[in-house]
Amino acid sequence: MDTTRRRLFTLGVGAAGVIMAAPAILRATSRMLMPAAGGNRVVIVGGGWGGLSAARWLKRSRPSTEVVIVEQNNIFMSCPLSNLYLGNVLPLDRLQFSYAGLGRAGVVFQQARVTGVDRDSRVLETSGGKIGYDYLMLSPGIDYMWDQVPGLWEGRHDIPIAFKPGPEHLHLKETIDKFEGGVFALCIPEGPIRCPPGPYERIAMIAYNFKKRGLKAKLIVLDANAKPMSKGKGFLAAYESLYGDIVEYNPSHQIESVDHAKRRITHTFGDLDYDAANIIPPMQAGEIVRIAGVGKRWAPINATDFSTLADPRVFMIGDAIGDQPFPKSGFMANTVGKIAAAHVMEKLEGKDPTPIEPANTCFSMVDGDDGGRSIWVTHGFTWNAGESKFDRTATVDLNPTRDSAQAAMRWASSIWSEMLG
Ligand SMILES: Cc1cc2nc3c(=O)[nH]c(=O)nc-3n(C[C@H](O)[C@H](O)[C@H](O)COP(=O)(O)OP(=O)(O)OC[C@H]3O[C@@H](n4cnc5c(N)ncnc54)[C@H](O)[C@@H]3O)c2cc1C
Repeated sequence: MDTTRRRLFTLGVGAAGVIMAAPAILRATSRMLMPAAGGNRVVIVGGGWGGLSAARWLKRSRPSTEVVIVEQNNIFMSCPLSNLYLGNVLPLDRLQFSYAGLGRAGVVFQQARVTGVDRDSRVLETSGGKIGYDYLMLSPGIDYMWDQVPGLWEGRHDIPIAFKPGPEHLHLKETIDKFEGGVFALCIPEGPIRCPPGPYERIAMIAYNFKKRGLKAKLIVLDANAKPMSKGKGFLAAYESLYGDIVEYNPSHQIESVDHAKRRITHTFGDLDYDAANIIPPMQAGEIVRIAGVGKRWAPINATDFSTLADPRVFMIGDAIGDQPFPKSGFMANTVGKIAAAHVMEKLEGKDPTPIEPANTCFSMVDGDDGGRSIWVTHGFTWNAGESKFDRTATVDLNPTRDSAQAAMRWASSIWSEMLG
């Protein structure tokens, strides 16, 4: 791990929350990738959990493949475990990694934003130039549906969301650190969203932060859902036993709008005046899915091989996938990345696809003392050949333990190393 992890630059906390690329580098490297692909090039959009897992698996399993990742950010930041950073349980530099290991593994890394996909001629338009492909894999993660929360876009400098990798997480941490007491509002949208347990783990870690600082504070949660979307009983029990005087959880409270100048949220049952807020809006697949014409809110796939319904040469990975019983998690993006890579290899070798069953485990920290305590859920998926779909089963352990917190740390470290080492 130490060879790949660097004490990287501090991400600028910015309005739009985007790390800008260096144009000179983009132009030079993009020219190297032209002209068009020669039959063996797989281009992956998105250097996050799904894209990196696919790239490393493909290159390792079929070294002759030319594997290219196009990613807009210049460093990797992990959303998994980022809530621990909010709770002062984990430092920021444990979550940031260099992309340098990709080059050593033979994967070409292009820092650029993909702005267009010409599926007829198999060419990507990027902020650094055109890149041809033989097969395309899209793992762009999520975008926010700003229009679903009137006032949120106007208030984005004051109200961080922090559900995408990058400087938004620093913005939220700064907001929490500057908060000296009063009302902190946290709004959760209806699913499907990235990491359904993520907002509930965040509640526990922010409350843990307030408790340790001895603040006179209320963390008022407005959840549009009738109950927590994942591990509900475990989270609610933890709020009551650990943070009973801090957390106020309100189910079925949908945010209708926010006025950041007045610091007022309007919701189903009235108004809430706040001192600081984290408002999570509804989500959709990354914009490139709609630009490429392979999906609308989410991208539907052929479950047999993870190709898009729109184009058999375009494959989907990660949170952007729709119409499947897959939780939108990093664990899932990692296993699906490898599975989709195996199906692309089948295509390159002219073989028919054989369905492969993914799996998922998700830990959630509820307490930060002595390394923390965590609850967890696992999902198994079995291939239903009759209906050409995956069936899902779930197992949960809602008793917080230190063992599972340590398992969460081991899990994250091993996947970071696998993806980026
Ligand atoms: C607070 C929080 C806690 C979480 N905790 C957990 C956890 O404990 N366990 C777990 O398994 N999961 C967790 N998750 C979920 C996990 O982060 C996501 O499910 C996972 O990142 C999905 O991988 P992805 O590849 O689909 O998207 P991402 O990892 O977000 O990667 C997408 C990448 O695509 C890039 N991109 C997008 N569009 C373009 C474009 N047009 N051009 C170039 N690049 C582009 C983005 O910059 C990004 O780097 C958590 C998420 C959050 C927000």
